[in-house]
Formats: sequence, structure tokens, C-alpha cells
Amino acid sequence: MSKAVRYRHWIFDMDGTLTVAAHDFDAIRKELNIAIGTPILEAINSMPPALAKQTNEKLHQLELDIAAQSVAQPDAEAMLANLEAQGCQLAILTRNAEDIAQVTLEAAGLSRFFPQDLVIGREKCLPKPDPQGLQHLLTGWQASAQHAVMVGDYVFDLQAGRNAGTATVHFSPANEFHWPELSDHCINTLAEITEINQH
Ligand SMILES: [Mg+2]
Repeated sequence: MSKAVRYRHWIFDMDGTLTVAAHDFDAIRKELNIAIGTPILEAINSMPPALAKQTNEKLHQLELDIAAQSVAQPDAEAMLANLEAQGCQLAILTRNAEDIAQVTLEAAGLSRFFPQDLVIGREKCLPKPDPQGLQHLLTGWQASAQHAVMVGDYVFDLQAGRNAGTATVHFSPANEFHWPELSDHCINTLAEITEINQH
């Protein structure tokens, strides 16, 4: 049986957290005619239906191209193997599409940690910061939010955790922590997760 750990259920953002940040979101916005500073999914949702459909298809192609070149974050594989060995449950909650998430995880060599039903993308739930994706995972695991933690590199990840009542880990390889009020733990390497999980 597994050792005592601080958190049993670990939910990760994917892009920029488990993988090295590769999205130039402003370049994507430019390509899609979305104003700089506007959240992309929300901007598409507010477009007239025909334009929204066309823009979504363009976004999907751009994201597939980026996904195929994904590289894992340093320490990601060892950290996930460690959590797995501790008996923790792992999942991904991404604002990306699920097929793109699969391409990303395979390219980064991390797909073996995440069965398909534990990769929650924008098809299944309202996007972060909405807590729906986290709630969906916790229900599936029959887990309580206090034993779960959301790890991410952006404010939406931390807000999603707060909204669902989980703990939060802000990962910033650049060591820039802009949301201390939303972050229970701040780390600049994924290796620190192993320390966090020790009592
Ligand atoms: Mg991210």
C-alpha cells in the first residue's frame, strides 16, 4: 500500500506546465483576428456561429502543428513516475482540445501516465477557471477536494483550483509568482512537487 502523502489526487495543466511553453498566444490571436489581451476561447464563443466555426477550425490546425513539436518540461517524467509510485492519481485539465492533448503528450513522451479518460479538454467541461473539470475528476475518483491539488503555470489554473476547493501549485520556471493569494505552493522546478507531497 502507498505511503502517506499530502495530496492523493494531482491534476495538471498541460501546456507550459508538463510541457515547455510553446504557444505564442499573441501570434495565434493575430492569425485568428482576435484582439491582443482577449481570452481566445471566450472570443471565439462570442463570434457569429459561422465565423466561430471557421475560427475554431483554424485554431485547431494551429494547435495541432504546435502539439506535434511538444517537449516535456525538465523533471516532468521523473516527477510523474514518483507520484505514481506513491499511489497518487494523475489527470490533466487543459483548455486545449483532447485530440491535441493526446498528440502533445505523445510527442513529449508523457502519454503513459494519463489514460484517455483522465485527460479533460474543452469538449468535456467548461474551460478553466470554471471548476467543472476538476469537479468531474473528483466525482470520478470519489475524492474530496481537500486531498486534491491543481498544478499550473497560469492564473486560470489557480482560479480553477480555488473555485473547486483544491489546493493549488503555481509552477513558474521563470520564478515569477504573480498570484500569491491564489497559490498554496510556488515552485520553479517540477522536482519540488516530490517535496511538497511529503508530510
Ligand atoms: Mg498552461
